[in-house]
Amino acid sequence: MQKLQQLYEGKAKKVFATSDPEKYIVDYKDDATAFDGQKKGTILGKGAINNQVTNHLMKLLEIEGIPTHYVEQLSDTETVVKKVTIIPLEVIVRNIAAGSLAKRLGLEEGTVMKKTVLEYCFKNDALGDPMVNEYHIDAMGWATPNELKLIAQYALKINDYLRTYLKDLNIELIDFKLEFGKTSDGTIVLADEISPDTCRFWDSVTKEKLDKDRFRRDLGNVEDAYQEIMKRLLGK
Ligand code: 5GP
Repeated sequence: MQKLQQLYEGKAKKVFATSDPEKYIVDYKDDATAFDGQKKGTILGKGAINNQVTNHLMKLLEIEGIPTHYVEQLSDTETVVKKVTIIPLEVIVRNIAAGSLAKRLGLEEGTVMKKTVLEYCFKNDALGDPMVNEYHIDAMGWATPNELKLIAQYALKINDYLRTYLKDLNIELIDFKLEFGKTSDGTIVLADEISPDTCRFWDSVTKEKLDKDRFRRDLGNVEDAYQEIMKRLLGK
């Protein structure tokens, strides 16, 4: 399979066509953005870490019965994925109140909630990824009610698995964002990435932030946090 022309460049990844019409190659970048692109920077080694962490977790999730877009890792930053049409939703799973939820509801970050919370946002930077509900998603035709039911089931199963897996590595999974896509035969699969860019990871003991909040909030030691996650998950 040959890497062909670049199709798209996002904030954190480039996507390339390949000689196989059903496959793309994603190349993860060290570029970091926050607040809908208003804050920009570089996190050295981030591309390689996010690529490898994502692939490691997607392989584990496949074993658990979650279909994903993952095909094969090509290099530290490049991976072959199935070609999908992205469903324009950010599916957010929250175990502990943090970030925008803590702000919106006036909760202290770290507040334990009685249940896991699922939220949906419309993927649109210009609008600031506004929160939407099941009715909006059906009315806009982004996903049918049955497709959304499946997406919610997958998101909660992914959460159950990852929470337990990470707990053993002394990582608390506070919240995270997922994206799903549809392959040409209509199968819904987990797409995009699962990494310190898209998850809040806190050290279980010290509650130290080991994720992109270190960049967003200028907390320092950003590279160290990404490397620590890589070390705990992949042993390198
Ligand atoms: P919040 O809504 O609190 O800002 O984010 C909730 C969770 O979803 C966090 O783990 C955050 O990393 C992730 N998340 C939400 N929106 C985005 C986004 O546009 N990009 C990335 N990389 N992560 C997001």
